[in-house]
Amino acid sequence: MSITVGRFAPTPSGKMHLGNVLCSLLAWLSARSQGGKIILRVEDLDTERSNWEFQRQIEDDLLWLGLTWDEGGVDADNHRYCQSRRTDIYLRYFAQLEEMGLIYPCFCSRAELHAASAPHRSDGRFLYTGTCRNLTPEEVAQKRKLRPPAARIRVPDREVAFTDLHYGPYTENLAEECGDFVVRRADGVFAYQLAVAIDDALMGVTEVVRGNDLLSSSPRQIWLHELFGFPPPQYGHIPLLTAFDGRRLSKRDGDLDLSRLRTLYSPEEIIGMLGKAAGLLDEYRPISAENLISYFDWKKIPLEDIRLPENFPERLSV
Ligand code: GLU
Repeated sequence: MSITVGRFAPTPSGKMHLGNVLCSLLAWLSARSQGGKIILRVEDLDTERSNWEFQRQIEDDLLWLGLTWDEGGVDADNHRYCQSRRTDIYLRYFAQLEEMGLIYPCFCSRAELHAASAPHRSDGRFLYTGTCRNLTPEEVAQKRKLRPPAARIRVPDREVAFTDLHYGPYTENLAEECGDFVVRRADGVFAYQLAVAIDDALMGVTEVVRGNDLLSSSPRQIWLHELFGFPPPQYGHIPLLTAFDGRRLSKRDGDLDLSRLRTLYSPEEIIGMLGKAAGLLDEYRPISAENLISYFDWKKIPLEDIRLPENFPERLSV
């Protein structure tokens, strides 16, 4: 039997908050509970928003929490786990998609996109209506003079289905529910969906554990895996951790960032609190990540978002 390979895939655009910690913890527990390994990839595609100092802080935080990895990290192997250094690889696969006739230039501005489409589904995604799908070569040449295009991929009118480790069967018709999506931005930066599918495949990732805000990205990524002939990994999405009022945690909520929490609590207290919040422990108690492994079970984890108590971080037991 092949070994489970999980991954941490932080975007180093700020400090880690508790939601990022929960995600890393569950990805780590799932892989480790199967005797698997973990790869740490740096999702710094957007070099304006990301920086390696944040990444080094994230790595320090993960190690402080006892969340070890076996491969990767910002400084490993000449930075080869950093997406910002993998452009040549993405280019090769992008060229394959072009050869398949699936890529076309899109000149729509953000405002035009919003005007031409209705917010779609509960996640607020916009369905691309195909404005640039059938431009003639003359029209493309004309428009190129005005602005550089993004590159979109033509999606098929068919359902992509998979079984999520936590949320069960999930299906999406790409044409109806997503539309042709951007794989390369107008500034030349490759889009998250393309980079993540290629990297998960080339790095041998077999299990992707991440927040349920990315559940609806999985069909696109699975389809890209299929196009390249890669076996897709298994996906397991987890509920999001929210503030007591249901507000999503963001990297801007400095009060829940780990550097502050590190001054208040031990790693075992934080892991214990998250272990309780995620349903793995019946009662709050300080525990190391290592000792939590045997408690890991997808069935114990709630499906709905997990709220932090109002007076957190003063009180730990959720
Ligand atoms: N880099 C993404 C994030 O930090 C995660 C992407 C993924 O897990 O596929 O939210």
